[in-house]
Amino acid sequence: MTEVRVRFAPSPTGYLHIGGARTALFNWLFARKQGGKLILRIEDTDVARLKEDSVSQIITSLKWLGIDWDEGPEKGGPCGPYYQSERLEIYQRYAKELIDAGKAYYCFCTGEDLEKEREKQRLAKQPFRYGRTCRELSAAEVEKRLAAGAKPSVRLKIPATGSITVDDLIHGSVTFNMDQFDDFVIMKSNGIPTYNFAVCIDDHLMGMTHVLRAEEHLPNTPKQMLVYEALGWQPPRFGHMSMILAPDRSKLSKRHGATSVEEFRSQGYTHQAIVNYLTLLGWGPGDEREIFSPAETVAQFELEQMSKKAAIYDTKKLTWLNGQYLSLLPLEELLPETAPFFLQAGLVDEKWLEENKEYFARLVDVVRVRVKTLQEIAEASTYFFRPIEEYDAKGAAKHFKPEAAELLDECAAALAALPVFDLAGTEAAYNALAEKTGLSLGKLVHPTRLALTGRTVSPGLFDVMVLLGKEKTLQRLAAAAAYIRARA
Ligand code: GLU
Repeated sequence: MTEVRVRFAPSPTGYLHIGGARTALFNWLFARKQGGKLILRIEDTDVARLKEDSVSQIITSLKWLGIDWDEGPEKGGPCGPYYQSERLEIYQRYAKELIDAGKAYYCFCTGEDLEKEREKQRLAKQPFRYGRTCRELSAAEVEKRLAAGAKPSVRLKIPATGSITVDDLIHGSVTFNMDQFDDFVIMKSNGIPTYNFAVCIDDHLMGMTHVLRAEEHLPNTPKQMLVYEALGWQPPRFGHMSMILAPDRSKLSKRHGATSVEEFRSQGYTHQAIVNYLTLLGWGPGDEREIFSPAETVAQFELEQMSKKAAIYDTKKLTWLNGQYLSLLPLEELLPETAPFFLQAGLVDEKWLEENKEYFARLVDVVRVRVKTLQEIAEASTYFFRPIEEYDAKGAAKHFKPEAAELLDECAAALAALPVFDLAGTEAAYNALAEKTGLSLGKLVHPTRLALTGRTVSPGLFDVMVLLGKEKTLQRLAAAAAYIRARA
């Protein structure tokens, strides 16, 4: 059997979008499952749409997601160059071959000519199809115009009637009537190929066995099949992944929140949760499981299991998954991803992180349980690094009644007496105090939490105490008692 070769072929027009990341991921899953190769190709011929730095942003996002490629930028390979802008001569050569074989022709129609034609067809309420004006120009006429310095485009000659069927790995057979197409441009007058032409040349020369891409390219596929046919090449197998729609089933756009991988990363989402979420946008393991690793997916993945139905993009689900991963991930994987958020929030600096590795690990381990993003881990850790400036107002009204001052003094005294300030000791001290005063543990815990954190919600109180340390704990209990007395 021939080796499976697939590609991810982004146009560098901005950050890696969620849809693009999903395309890359499923190509990667398929390549890895089949023991094949993933090629990264940069489709950068549409100069007007190019954005500077996009390639490096896309590469950074792919690497961060753990999607590695076997050939392409940074890797090289036998089928390069992997940037379309460096392959222009190749496309020009094949266009010439098609012209010489009578399968394509020069078109000298100007933008103005085409606009007139379009207008006529618009008035007749017909969709625009090029009228094939230049298809039958004589060789002599073509020569004359070229010699006069005309800069023609190149169009493919296609049959005027009949139909063409795409045998799609995900959608099954999809038939297109030939009358939907015209002799489309394969090379623009500036010598740049159109997408539908360049993609075929590259997919063929780069040995693609399968082309797996977004459903929006399904209508392009018959045109590409015509190019393959003209060149006498066998097309690869095609598979088009379902659309990704917003929750209201409209087209996904900026107003539906973050849509680039980089945005999610900067908001504190883990790559593990994003990859898991992207996997769910088109595939499921066939049982109730919602959390699975790329390795588990690779083991089970079959292209034919991909859903034809549109996937609904639901960031709530992603956020839920992220929260799950924050609890599940081995701490050593989470710490390097979490540190930048602490630095950014100004809670610590590099030196502190270097000198307090163990403390930082304990802190993240305690805080990660109740939050949904890495950013929230940093936010929920503020009071470990900064003094309490104010107490939650509702909490204070409830837990800082006048009698709480004395209670907090008693808590402080019990903690002060501890020879070892650890989890077991602090908890035992509070249990003993509850017993002695006849109060429920909650009556002690709530005002203490507010005193230590300024908040009504926190990780386990005794974890918080131990992380704060004895000195800060006693100081904050005293400060809260003083605050209550001052208010009374
Ligand atoms: N450059 C195209 C895109 O970004 C690739 C389409 C394809 O995979 O054929 O949509």
